[in-house]
Amino acid sequence: MAKLVAQNHPALRATAEEVPAEEIRGKKVQKVLKDMRAVLLTCPRGVAIAAPQIGVPLRIFLVHDIPADHDEGESRVPDMVCINPKIIKLSRKKEEFEEGCLSVPNQYGKVTRAPKVTLRAYDEEGEEFERGASGLLAQIFQHECDHLDGILYTDHASETWKTNDNYEKE
Ligand code: ZN
Repeated sequence: MAKLVAQNHPALRATAEEVPAEEIRGKKVQKVLKDMRAVLLTCPRGVAIAAPQIGVPLRIFLVHDIPADHDEGESRVPDMVCINPKIIKLSRKKEEFEEGCLSVPNQYGKVTRAPKVTLRAYDEEGEEFERGASGLLAQIFQHECDHLDGILYTDHASETWKTNDNYEKE
């Protein structure tokens, strides 16, 4: 059974590889997606996960059922698979967000990020899509793309602190 790798695992510090588009519907990638979902579901209040977090060096992340993204007129953002994601637009304005990470247990911190972004990626069927996001979803997109480049939020947090609660983690 797949599981989260330890905080010092080299996969968390590597640049993950692109998934060839024609392999997205293949068994190997679909198994990775299944493993990522299974691990995320074991994490209380976990909202997203990137493949390197389970030791798989591929450019994939998924988002699980997060609260409303009001700008998009939705009540919930449903499960979303993002393969070979690229942030193609970032708002010039930046805001401070509180953030945690499944790979950095019992800690969170403050990170400066764009409150609005546009992401381009492939879904699990191999279809390319673009998605604008604000607030939590925009934060998640940036946090997860960082994972694919071997970056943890603690690398650029303005401050971090220890906690024992289950603050929402990405
Ligand atoms: Zn994370």
